[in-house]
Amino acid sequence: MIPWSGRRFITILLALFLLNWLIVAIFAPAEKRIKVPYNPNFVEQVEKGNVKEISSKGDTVQGEFKKSVEYKGDKAEKFETEIPTFANDNQLSQLLTDQDVVINAESPSSRSLLETILFSFGPTILLVALFVFLMRRAAGGGRGGGGVLGQFGRSQAKRVESESQTVTFEDVAGIDEAEEQLVEVVDFLRNPDKYLRLGARIPRGVLLAGPPGTGKTLLARAVAGEAHVPFFSASASEFIEAIVGVGASRVRDLFKQAEEAAPAIIFIDELDAIGRARGGSGGVMGGHDEREQTLNQILTEMDGFDPAAGVIVLGATNRPDVLDPALLRPGRFDRRVFVQPPDSAGREQILRVHTRSVPLADDVDLAQIAQTTPGMVGADLANLVNEGALLAAKRGHDQVQRADFTDALEKIVLGAARKILLSHDDRRRIAYHEGGHAIVGMLTPGADPVRKVSIIPRGQALGVTLSTPDDDRFNYSEDELRAKIRVSCGGRVAEEIVYDEPTTGAESDIQQVTGIARGMVERWGMSEKVGFLAMAPREGQGFLLPGAEPVSEATKELIDAELRRIVDDELDHVRHLLTDNRERLDALAEALLERETLDELDAYAAAGIPREREPASA
Ligand code: ADP
Ligand code: MG
Ligand code: ZN
Repeated sequence: MIPWSGRRFITILLALFLLNWLIVAIFAPAEKRIKVPYNPNFVEQVEKGNVKEISSKGDTVQGEFKKSVEYKGDKAEKFETEIPTFANDNQLSQLLTDQDVVINAESPSSRSLLETILFSFGPTILLVALFVFLMRRAAGGGRGGGGVLGQFGRSQAKRVESESQTVTFEDVAGIDEAEEQLVEVVDFLRNPDKYLRLGARIPRGVLLAGPPGTGKTLLARAVAGEAHVPFFSASASEFIEAIVGVGASRVRDLFKQAEEAAPAIIFIDELDAIGRARGGSGGVMGGHDEREQTLNQILTEMDGFDPAAGVIVLGATNRPDVLDPALLRPGRFDRRVFVQPPDSAGREQILRVHTRSVPLADDVDLAQIAQTTPGMVGADLANLVNEGALLAAKRGHDQVQRADFTDALEKIVLGAARKILLSHDDRRRIAYHEGGHAIVGMLTPGADPVRKVSIIPRGQALGVTLSTPDDDRFNYSEDELRAKIRVSCGGRVAEEIVYDEPTTGAESDIQQVTGIARGMVERWGMSEKVGFLAMAPREGQGFLLPGAEPVSEATKELIDAELRRIVDDELDHVRHLLTDNRERLDALAEALLERETLDELDAYAAAGIPREREPASA
């Protein structure tokens, strides 16, 4: 069974067990019975005439003494003994008859009918009763009644009061389009007449969709702080319990509370936990009943309430692609707000928000930090500011300086340095490996500029070559993808040229190369032979579902051949490139061995390659 964490449930279970134990103790108190040897004790007692009655089952004899007997420190009237198979039965019968011992036909330990029923069925009956009870509670809506489990089907959503919510739209930056739409939603709730007068329909559901860390939850909290209406906040996973029906009942309860408090906002975070497409990549055991029922209940509730009532449902998810289409149709989450990763200007604003209470030195240029952090989202930037401040504190600075931020960024992007001792040979090999990536990166048109090369071990990696684009990238051309493949191949190829034996150091490079090549063939239609067809299932969709055609054996072979062709072509190219530039590679490797970390300018200088453009960072 699925683990079920309910303190109440555990308590009740314990109480039931206690009850069961009590019943057994009262109706069938454990009797004290001593075990005595057949000879001499038992025979002796019979001869003395101290045995009142016996009964036997097989060779086991149980019985009662007239006066209690002590054996090995235990004293009791009841006893039990084993008759050895070789004992003389006739003699024993004679002895018993002589002493007028009552010989019972029935085992004295057998229980009465009531006892038997209680013992064998009692616990089961109790458990079954408990489950029936729980089911009925869950299905019955959980409200009213108010029995021991009355709270169970209740919604666990927290009601957030505007006054207690300190986050406002001021704290959200860099995602202006999303913010504007939510400001509008708040206005709907505050001045419904303004819209209803013109016959406009207030949206029922607003879905915030976007990558993790872009500020969806933050936006919702800002709405709670600014709307000045009751705000009910819940995470979708809170609805799901092991028992089917509980989630649905909690949803019912949540909507009921919101309607009573209207105008109000219901916020359901991580909506995909319940809202995944039904019948999709489900478990084998049909364990989705609960999720499905909960989802259905949300749909029903959203359809059910009066549009004029003024309840708006806000949902957030990282995975809008896996949501059930029924959730997205008009009348439900009909407004979708995409929260995109911020651009350079947006990142600057976010940094501004997070450095409001951080003393900054004069040399800190937030715009420049924003420029060097493409791809970072709000959560990353908040983390960067915090790491910078921590570093400054550690170094005893009064203000956070530019160097603190650059070092914090390095730590975040590359990982924290690891103290492991490498042999001279290993370091040399790593220097050639990273040097290979870097030289290929510097000499390949379309490759992202090399920002940093380092042979200091960090995290899993023994060395790093960091290349990031100058601007935010949303779309890559085939040439650029091929350039990425070449740069990833550079490490292994350099090792190959200098040493004979390959090492394990290229594992993640190989994964990256394979990933890009696979994307080109299976998803982005960049292989002429495979053509303009999607060959890989979209994430979140099972194998035999619409979206990706089941791939034929012949096509699979074709895909493999194409992957191989692309990668082999690029490997070949890189081999030529590095062989032709062996002196540059040697020079860069030497510089790395000497200085361990080179940044953009130093790396180009060490390799003797002129830089064509001004670097964004110094
Ligand atoms: P998610 O989109 O995954 O829900 P969160 O809203 O939880 O992301 O963001 C996590 C943290 O990152 C926030 O608490 C905030 O400190 C910071 N953050 C994210 N986006 C922004 C933003 N646009 N403006 C300011 N801070 C942000
Ligand atoms: Mg979130
Ligand atoms: Zn590598």
